[in-house]
Amino acid sequence: MIALARKYRPKRFSDVAVQSHVSATLKGAIARGRVAHGYLLCGPRGVGKTTLARVLAMALNCEHRGEDGEPCGVCVSCERIWSGASSLDVVEIDAASNRGVDDARDLRERAMYAPSGDERYKVYIVDEAHMLTREAWNALLKILEEPPPRVVFVFATTEPQKIAQSAAPVLSRLQRFDFKRIGPAEIKGRLTTVLANERLAAEPQALSMIARAADGSMRDALSLADQVLAMGDGRVTAERVREALGLVPEDEFLALLDVILERRAGEVFTFVGRLADAGIDYALFLSGLADILRAQLAVLLGGELPDLPDSVRHALEERRTRWSATDLLRMLSAIGELEPRFRKSGQQQLLIETLLVRFALLDRTVEIEDLLRGLSGEGNESSAAKGRPSNAGDAQRPPRRDSAPRVTNADVQPASDRPVNDERPVVSRPAAMADVARAVDPPPRQSLGPTPEPLDLARVAGRWDALVAQVRSDGKRVLASALEHALPVAATAAGDLTIELDEPNEFLSRAVESGKSDIAATLRQWFPDTRTVRLRHDPERAAVAPTRVTSEMVRADRLNALRRRDPILGAAIDALDLDVIE
Ligand SMILES: [Zn+2]
Repeated sequence: MIALARKYRPKRFSDVAVQSHVSATLKGAIARGRVAHGYLLCGPRGVGKTTLARVLAMALNCEHRGEDGEPCGVCVSCERIWSGASSLDVVEIDAASNRGVDDARDLRERAMYAPSGDERYKVYIVDEAHMLTREAWNALLKILEEPPPRVVFVFATTEPQKIAQSAAPVLSRLQRFDFKRIGPAEIKGRLTTVLANERLAAEPQALSMIARAADGSMRDALSLADQVLAMGDGRVTAERVREALGLVPEDEFLALLDVILERRAGEVFTFVGRLADAGIDYALFLSGLADILRAQLAVLLGGELPDLPDSVRHALEERRTRWSATDLLRMLSAIGELEPRFRKSGQQQLLIETLLVRFALLDRTVEIEDLLRGLSGEGNESSAAKGRPSNAGDAQRPPRRDSAPRVTNADVQPASDRPVNDERPVVSRPAAMADVARAVDPPPRQSLGPTPEPLDLARVAGRWDALVAQVRSDGKRVLASALEHALPVAATAAGDLTIELDEPNEFLSRAVESGKSDIAATLRQWFPDTRTVRLRHDPERAAVAPTRVTSEMVRADRLNALRRRDPILGAAIDALDLDVIE
């Protein structure tokens, strides 16, 4: 096995190209002989903090250092430091395992010893520095207040805010650098170079998959490539990557798209059960689902496609006219909302099931403004129609006047006062295709009058969009907006339902708390045995809850975040001519 992760660990500042803002500054400091006594390197895992600390130690102690401050990378000193072999002058400490005060005292005593030679520097690299105790920081503060000559401390951390809490005085003595997260394109670029250098064949799509799975960590990306190479004949193929990472094959995703398109909500559970049996990673499944929806959106809008096998590209082309861009955006937005709390959740399977059931039951006639604004005006025919449990309105729904879906602030420009059709360019209307398709072949839904059902978590989740719509058409618009940010998390046979907000928000909590009996009353239309509705608060998350945030702000934030995350989404939002609320 080649161990690319090790072989390609940078030996020079210029190798750490992605963090050039940090490496160039450190290199310059060395060239000019102005090295600080303490550095704080902050950033997510795997972005090169420890690597750069080692390069710094190499440069300080190199026997043939360049005038520009670069270490030679090959002298005995460089070799030893780079390989992590014991070096008298570089001490690496993992604070996660040595956080006690004794170690700090020990550190202090050892720091008092001079480096091993006149020309040399002693460098302490403290990893996971946020794990150090307050006592340890106090001991370190004493050293940093009167630093011994030629001693440098480098603290690396993924959570600088914790250091700010426990060691604020120390922070003022450290020069801080923030490392940036490494994007999939940068990771893919690096993988391509490394594999070409090793004369190893790789499918571009396979490298994209690795880059996404590495989630911002160059180290993980190279280790994953190592893993894939260890499986076979030295070729990196999409199939091997899928196998090594436990990814869901694309044809499964395509089958899932059909389940959603054809509203076969009941099949969601079989599908997810199959994933569970195959032992797939749900978090990777979720990002894979986002990828395929994004690719479908790109096909629909004629945007640039990510690396895809021809068979998938064809399959997406075939489905092109069956989707509306609005629906794809709604689903991507829902995934984007779920993702931050997904990894921490102990109920990943349930979250996936409820999400997919909601997708399969998605009312395709809803305008995006309903989704994003939430507070639609009365008389908005689509929101009024979608809410009724009977869905009888579906068939005779009047045609829409407003051609361009848009988001406006209802308070500024109420829907009813809006010019009937202002000068906005009429963009292509993929949604209309869905309307036509539906009129010809109405989806299999229950017709007149809901059948009473027992209260059950999956069923409630499946009815959630309808519940929100019903509450809204009952005139309780604030409550409806709050419920859009909530999900059912537990239901008992006795009829008690627990719901949770997708992020702590005082405004929305209050709306739900004061509307609990209304929610229960509405739910009884489908689930007559509903007794109580309870809002669960997550105390830990509530502690950092922002206050005085309005739902409009939440929504605008989300749209902006979506835009930033994804250029294709940004383009789609522009193409659909949405006004983002400032
Ligand atoms: Zn050297």
